[in-house]
Formats: sequence, structure tokens, C-alpha cells
Amino acid sequence: TVEVHGVHKWYGTHRVLNGVDLTVRPGEVTVILGPSGSGKSTLLRVINHLEKPEIGHVSVNGELIGVRRHGDRLKELSERAILAQRSRIGFVFQNFNLFPHLTVLENVAAAPVATGKLASREADVFARELLDRVGLADKAGARPRQLSGGQQQRVAIARALALRPGLILFDEPTSALDPELVGEVLEVVRDLARSGTTLVIVTHEIGFAREIADRVVFIDDGRIVEQGPPAELLDRPRHERTKDFLSRVL
Ligand code: ATP
Ligand code: MG
Repeated sequence: TVEVHGVHKWYGTHRVLNGVDLTVRPGEVTVILGPSGSGKSTLLRVINHLEKPEIGHVSVNGELIGVRRHGDRLKELSERAILAQRSRIGFVFQNFNLFPHLTVLENVAAAPVATGKLASREADVFARELLDRVGLADKAGARPRQLSGGQQQRVAIARALALRPGLILFDEPTSALDPELVGEVLEVVRDLARSGTTLVIVTHEIGFAREIADRVVFIDDGRIVEQGPPAELLDRPRHERTKDFLSRVL
């Protein structure tokens, strides 16, 4: 379970998250929609403590992220403890962020070795399994730049899976792709959703949201305006701002 409690985040005087509360239950797929600049990426980054909220906190499976209780205050965890927490949360970025100098196999196998979770040979075996799962078994020896965008994003997903995260965050995983490559990436995400992995996905692919989301959350101006099952939020939005947004993206 992911719990976001009363999170506020400022950049300078600009308030980007303005009191966000969100609960994601195990195995649920949550899709986050909202206009550009509404705070979607910031919310994902707060969940794995790439950004620290000024007010509020996040917990994953009952464990506070990035902080610990110290009396009635919260104190920052050590960098090492934060990294350990982050290793249990997968993150897939819009621009793949693969290591360009490593092969595909090395990209996927690197983190389990670096974190001491697997010996190098076991990590290679597991990485090959994951590459097979995303349909790229034959690309193990290639470098990222030799792959299409869709293939690179599938490697990035395999890399996120390599630490066996209980939760995976996706930040617009298909928006940097040519249209004909979107489907192959969504197919992999769909497969993860079916396998019961907890997913939080920022995307503008409304049809995909309708198909796989248990819940859709609409965020505007740093606040959750409304949330609900896709059939409700997408087909019978209650708020003007949601209607307006949907009329522009559908
Ligand atoms: P998009 O759909 O364009 O990706 P978003 O909903 O993901 O938008 P965020 O990236 O969360 O929006 O950004 C929310 C606001 O915070 C924007 O106004 C952005 O300019 C600002 N912002 C984000 N990161 C920073 C930063 N590191 N420093 C200052 N301002 C930032
Ligand atoms: Mg964003």
C-alpha cells in the first residue's frame, strides 16, 4: 500500500503540490492524468523521495519514505537507507535513461549486483529472463543507441523489474515514442498490470487508462480534483476542470 498524506511541495515560492492525499492498494493500477505543469511528475518523485515534500509524508507498505519519526517530528534518513527504500520502488522515465556505455544485458543486471542482491552470474540469468519477458532476448549484447525508442523503453522496464520492486512508477513511458512504437511498450505494461504488480502510471493514453486502470486520478494545479474507476472518471467526470481536460485530450 502506498499512502501519500497531506503532501505539499514548493519550488521557491511556487507551490507545485498543494495538499495531496492518495492511497494505492497492493496490486492496484492507478493512472494519473492532468495538464502539463500540474505536478504529476513531482508527485511520482515525492513517492520515491527524489523530491522531499515540505509538508506531509509518504509511506509504502507501512514504512515511511525518506524519513523516520523522531518524537513528534520527522527526521531525514541516511542516504544509504533512502537508497535501500528506493531500490524497492521501480521508476520508468519518459526518456528511458539507460546507461549508454553498457549493453542491454548489463543495463538490466547492474542494479541487483550493485545492491548486493544477486551475484553477477545470477543477475545475468535473471536479466536474460526479464529481457525475454519484454520480448528482447535477442538484444542482450546490443547498446542502447542501437535500439528503437520502444525497445529502449522495454529495456528500461526490464531494468526496473530487476530489483523485484513491489511498486513501479511510470512517468509518461510512451510520450517520447513514435506512435507506431507506443503499442509494444503498453503491451509490456499491460502484462505487468495483469501479473498483479502495483503500478502508478502517469500517461496521456486515455484508452489505455480505461483498459487497465483500477483507478484514475485527475490532478490539476497540485491538487487531486477527483478520482474514481475509469468508467466514472473518464465517462462521467463531475468537475468542470476534469471535463475540460478530457475534452482536450480525447
Ligand atoms: P508535464 O505533463 O509537462 O510533465 P507535470 O504535471 O509532470 O507536467 P511537474 O513536472 O510535476 O508537472 O511540474 C510541476 C511544476 O513544477 C511546473 O510548473 C514546473 O515548472 C515546476 N518544477 C518542476 N520541477 C522543478 C524544479 N526542479 N525546480 C523548479 N520548478 C520545478
Ligand atoms: Mg511530467
